[in-house]
Amino acid sequence: MGKITGFLEYSRQLPDRRPVAVRIRDWKEVYSSFPEERAREQAARCMDCGIPFCHDGCPLGNLIPEWNDLVYRGNWREAAERLQATHNFPEFTGRLCPAPCEAACVLGIAAEPVTIERMEYEIIEHAWAEGWVVPQPPESETSKSVAIVGSGPAGLACAQQLRRAGHRVVVYERAAKPGGLLRYGIPEFKMEKHVLDRRLEQLRVEGVEFVCNTIVGLHRDGTGTVPGDVAVDVSGQPAKVADDGGGSGVDDGKSTAGREASSTYAATTYAATIPSGAVSPAGADLVTSSISGLELMERYHAVVLAVGTGISRDLDIPGRDLDGIHLALDFLKPANQVAEGSLPASPVSADGRKVVILGGGDTGADCLGTAHRQGAESVKQLEIMPRPPDTRPAGTPWPMYPMIFRTTSAHEEGGEQYYSITTKEFLGDTEGRVRAINTEEVAMELQDGRPVFQPVPGTEREIECDMVLLALGFTGVEQTGIIGELGLDVTSRGTISVDSNWMTSTARVFACGDGARGQSLIVWATAEGRSAASAVDAYLSGGESLLPAPVAPGTLPIH
Ligand SMILES: Cc1cc2nc3c(=O)[nH]c(=O)nc-3n(C[C@H](O)[C@H](O)[C@H](O)COP(=O)(O)OP(=O)(O)OC[C@H]3O[C@@H](n4cnc5c(N)ncnc54)[C@H](O)[C@@H]3O)c2cc1C
Ligand code: SF4
Repeated sequence: MGKITGFLEYSRQLPDRRPVAVRIRDWKEVYSSFPEERAREQAARCMDCGIPFCHDGCPLGNLIPEWNDLVYRGNWREAAERLQATHNFPEFTGRLCPAPCEAACVLGIAAEPVTIERMEYEIIEHAWAEGWVVPQPPESETSKSVAIVGSGPAGLACAQQLRRAGHRVVVYERAAKPGGLLRYGIPEFKMEKHVLDRRLEQLRVEGVEFVCNTIVGLHRDGTGTVPGDVAVDVSGQPAKVADDGGGSGVDDGKSTAGREASSTYAATTYAATIPSGAVSPAGADLVTSSISGLELMERYHAVVLAVGTGISRDLDIPGRDLDGIHLALDFLKPANQVAEGSLPASPVSADGRKVVILGGGDTGADCLGTAHRQGAESVKQLEIMPRPPDTRPAGTPWPMYPMIFRTTSAHEEGGEQYYSITTKEFLGDTEGRVRAINTEEVAMELQDGRPVFQPVPGTEREIECDMVLLALGFTGVEQTGIIGELGLDVTSRGTISVDSNWMTSTARVFACGDGARGQSLIVWATAEGRSAASAVDAYLSGGESLLPAPVAPGTLPIH
């Protein structure tokens, strides 16, 4: 503990947010930077508790008191080493994590918690600026190879860990660029994409191979059926699936030909049929190639599915087919593509629109900030749940993550929020475009612990709008494509079923991240990716893995 009286001397502070009038005119991140002295003061607030509950609050088990102490002492380099000992991507969570560690901070019992998330940002950005974040290629190669499907934080963490353990790792991604929701869901004003690209370059130099625009589990007819005998080789050449007596057909991992060729992988060009709800038509990439799950199993010693939860929750009420009603990702994805320069203009822009967002969560807030930057005339955000209390409710005592009222930077920028309100119908104009929604207030009751909503009589009203965004969460993995092809067991929540070693119901196929856990957070996806890598490494080596496994499948937050 650097400064014994730090928590008494300094109050919790965060860097200023850029003025609203300035920031809604651009897509740059919202926070200004922290002067080094202030960062060190904030680190000095850490009490180095005998039992640091923040360790348990963070799914990665980040060594928070250790790096706070090192920052207070100005030893940034060692702080960066300690941070990276448990975390592959602190620059993502340092910007985007809701910080369950801070909810579990002991100082938070009597005062405001330590600014742990911000400290993570300060340490890793210091490290990048000083050139201390360097590629860590493996010292020796194993003869094993792993295909990872999906390049969100779970797939990337898993890929980096397995590659550093010496395995050949090829990441397949159906979108044009890797990153998953980090690239196409989360808006630029929360994390600029060069932050992601910088980290991806590190993975590439370490030897992780990326095969983009390639959907796994669908074939040329777009049906997701088991392939015939002609498939697409990672070398870019049509190849026969290796079941012709030539051994197991598993790539021996020693061939460098496949590795070099991955960037030229585009032997066939056609638009695959994309499962409904999987990729928005508005922001869809041209999927130029496909490969079956079975072929991956032929070619690699293990396959890891880090496919996220691709199915957005819809709202099946009268008027749903009117023009102007979109799933949130159909709106956010092209906005991100425009911001990164890969699309000239969004086909789903809020410019000049009266926007209603259904869903009061973080995705709704991301739609709110995006709509304002696109020039929406007005934005209203509706939530069926009651407004959360301002202080910790009895049901979520310390050190649990409390359901309290939180305002994001996007809420500071304008718009109106409504709680305890449900939408009964979308109303259209004569042209078939949405012109209003019909709403009603509701009262929530708990029945057997589950929320039930009763309409409040006499509260029906119309809200005028000409664009509606559905930010209602996700219902699970797409069960067509690879899940169906490999016949994987799926849980009642629509997630991929895994055993205690992250293996699915099909041997050699593993799963992690939102696809296995359900809709969650970057920190959980990263922790699961790291843990699944450890399990795959143990499976491939036939013994114990030296890779860390911070969480087990199904690990719950502090409860
Ligand atoms: C709008 C939005 C904002 C969010 N903001 C935050 C935030 O601020 N903080 C936070 O902690 N969390 C946030 N989240 C949640 C967080 O982004 C997810 O929990 C996290 O990205 C899950 O990681 P993942 O790797 O499991 O899946 P994903 O990031 O969803 O990545 C899965 C990838 O798999 C690919 N894929 C799927 N099927 C196939 C296939 N058959 N073939 C090839 N590729 C395939 C997909 O294209 C995708 O790139 C947000 C989510 C959304 C939707
Ligand atoms: S990753 Fe999230 S939970 Fe873990 S230390 Fe960082 S902010 Fe806290």
